[in-house]
Amino acid sequence: MSWWSRRRPMRCDAFVELVTEYLDDALSDDDRARIERHLRGCDGCTRVLAEWREVIRITGHIDDADVDRLDDGVRGQLMAAFVAAHGST
Ligand SMILES: [Zn+2]
Repeated sequence: MSWWSRRRPMRCDAFVELVTEYLDDALSDDDRARIERHLRGCDGCTRVLAEWREVIRITGHIDDADVDRLDDGVRGQLMAAFVAAHGST
């Protein structure tokens, strides 16, 4: 059974919405499983996740407020990675 056969695949923007909670280990098992399934099929989000982990390594933690406070360059880099992953729509 393919991972997407029981529910629609998570979209990349949903991943971005949940990524801080994922990294903070604050998600339900169900949401975490959805993210991990998405990551298996999405190289772009895997790369974005790696970049978030790097941010956490540097800052020690992350939450939505931290995202808002991120240096524009860093945030731009993350968003560029996301856009590159997502392709132009
Ligand atoms: Zn994705």
